[in-house]
Amino acid sequence: MARAIIFATKNGGKLRELRHLCEAFGVEVLGLGDDAPDVVEDGATFEENALKKARAIATWSNKLTIADDSGLEVDALGKRPGVHSARFAGEHGNDAANINRIFAELQPFTRPSRGFTARFRCALAMIDPATGREHVTSGSCEGEIALEPRGSNGFGYDPIFVVKEATTALEDRTMAELSADEKAAVSHRGQAMRAMIPTLASWLRGAT
Ligand code: IMP
Repeated sequence: MARAIIFATKNGGKLRELRHLCEAFGVEVLGLGDDAPDVVEDGATFEENALKKARAIATWSNKLTIADDSGLEVDALGKRPGVHSARFAGEHGNDAANINRIFAELQPFTRPSRGFTARFRCALAMIDPATGREHVTSGSCEGEIALEPRGSNGFGYDPIFVVKEATTALEDRTMAELSADEKAAVSHRGQAMRAMIPTLASWLRGAT
């Protein structure tokens, strides 16, 4: 499979992960420079926001584009921060402040014996500006909020998210304690990307 796709993100953590996920398929993943337009993420769902970002960047770059919208849903907080995960504490992408706000908002609640349940969700939208075709996939990963941050891999809320996927035995580690391969195998983004690969492969081959 050849070639290059644009990944519509300025988030270094997401870019590293998508590159890692696409490596095996021989697809080069290009990130965005500072000259790329900022897209206002005002959709009500991850899917809407991913499509909005992908449409804007595909039009701007005129290249095959994939965009990701993702976030953390904490059940005790009514599934917040959800689509507002990146700026939960006000400033976009301030991971430490966002994590502190999760703990502050959970403070009034009694911790259930099995912990505060949560999940990461991700929507990926792919657009081919040459044909106008659009394709959306999604993934989600179940877990619970750790008692305190642990680990230094990954990004965002990874240090406070303990993976509880039924299919895995990750010894109660947080996502920030997993290797890149371990995270890719269970994560919301890994699931969404694996679901995207067949369509990406067929578009890159020029098939209909
Ligand atoms: P957005 O998709 O640009 O709106 O940002 C998503 C935000 O959700 C990120 O800034 C992170 O705070 C959080 N997030 C999304 N995916 C992950 C992940 O894999 N690990 C940790 N945090 C994530």
